[in-house]
Amino acid sequence: MNPYIQYMYSYPHKTAYRPLEGISFKKYAPLLAGSGHGLYLHIPFCQAKCGYCNLFSVTGQGEKEIDQYLDAVERQSLQYKEVLAPYRPVFSEVVIGGGTPLLLAKKQMERMFSMLGKYFSFSQERGMVVETAPNQTTEEKLEVLRRVGVTRVSMGIQSFSDRELSILGRGHRAQKAREALGLLKSFCFPCINVDFIYGIPGQTAEGLLTSLEEAVDFEPEEIFLYPLYVRHGVGLETKGIAPDGENALEQYRKASHFLRESGYMQDSMRRFVKRGGEREFSECGLGNSLALGCGGRSYLGNLHFCTPYAVTGKECLEQMKRFEETGDFTRITHGLLLDEEEIKRRYVIRHLLIRPGLDMGRYEECFKSRVVDDFPLLTQWAEQGFLHGDKILGLTPEGMEWSDYLGPQLISPKIRKAMEEWEEGHG
Ligand code: SF4
Repeated sequence: MNPYIQYMYSYPHKTAYRPLEGISFKKYAPLLAGSGHGLYLHIPFCQAKCGYCNLFSVTGQGEKEIDQYLDAVERQSLQYKEVLAPYRPVFSEVVIGGGTPLLLAKKQMERMFSMLGKYFSFSQERGMVVETAPNQTTEEKLEVLRRVGVTRVSMGIQSFSDRELSILGRGHRAQKAREALGLLKSFCFPCINVDFIYGIPGQTAEGLLTSLEEAVDFEPEEIFLYPLYVRHGVGLETKGIAPDGENALEQYRKASHFLRESGYMQDSMRRFVKRGGEREFSECGLGNSLALGCGGRSYLGNLHFCTPYAVTGKECLEQMKRFEETGDFTRITHGLLLDEEEIKRRYVIRHLLIRPGLDMGRYEECFKSRVVDDFPLLTQWAEQGFLHGDKILGLTPEGMEWSDYLGPQLISPKIRKAMEEWEEGHG
């Protein structure tokens, strides 16, 4: 059995989204009244497209093109602000993801942060997360991040082996990652997280451990460990390079054991948090979040929306140009309206696969039904040793390592069909 079927980081997947008609942001804006919401800004620019990347990212764009994108984000922000004004939303977290946000010039970064402050309100305790890559992590840019009060910086390192980095098609070398991580540490952000990948062809468990030993020496607050996936349309697929599924599970076992022994608590199959720095999870699965820019998703009640899913640089560029030409950003033209069944599935997926797990009493309060009645599969998984707990259902260590096998089984037939149709249409 292959434990690596699909990463369920959000449900339903964007490939199940379809064109929407007659939906206005104005109708959903009241859901953002008051505090506790998330804001996401997508900066899609990267120096080069990594071989495994299926994120919304474009390359080869200069200062002028980036300015044009920021102009569009500003128009969108202004329109959202006007609609949201009566509801006085206060955002408790802002995430600037990508892409590589630090690819922006210093002046553009300053503009981006001042735009966020001009059009949106944040709570005093707000978290601010920014993603970066080693080549773009410079002193000048980190100074900007520190000045605006960034609370968490996330850097994709993936490996400290040049051979593995070049298979992955990453734009940086190991030495650059060491320097960038050292620099990042010297700025004392409250939280630094770094990403690593396993299952790379030719990678050994020992090689992975060597990378992680180096990472642990820098004492990042969080380490994410991702199995390599080669999705349709990514560069590695074109080159005929597939993940090393044979050895990935053994690598995961050794690496997760090493990280737990090194003082990290395992929250999920991917996330390891330094003990003492654990974050509380919000009411995930039901919270509202608004996305700015192209490629990021908004979650407003039962409405999920985003620009159409794109993988290759060319497709992403086309979508980006369309986004920049948009006149009315309050017209929602692509997304999905979730019915009650899908909302339940989303809730279960978002809680079950991550510590502390799914609170069955809370589920019953929210949905007026018992989770084990709605999802008989959970009882079966408990019998098979993947889940444990009577009030809170959580993954056992075995369940944790099979997360990417279990999670996809919770996809509804309707969503699965939509995803398959998308795949066929893009074959
Ligand atoms: S993986 Fe990250 S850095 Fe690489 S191309 Fe994709 S978004 Fe850019």
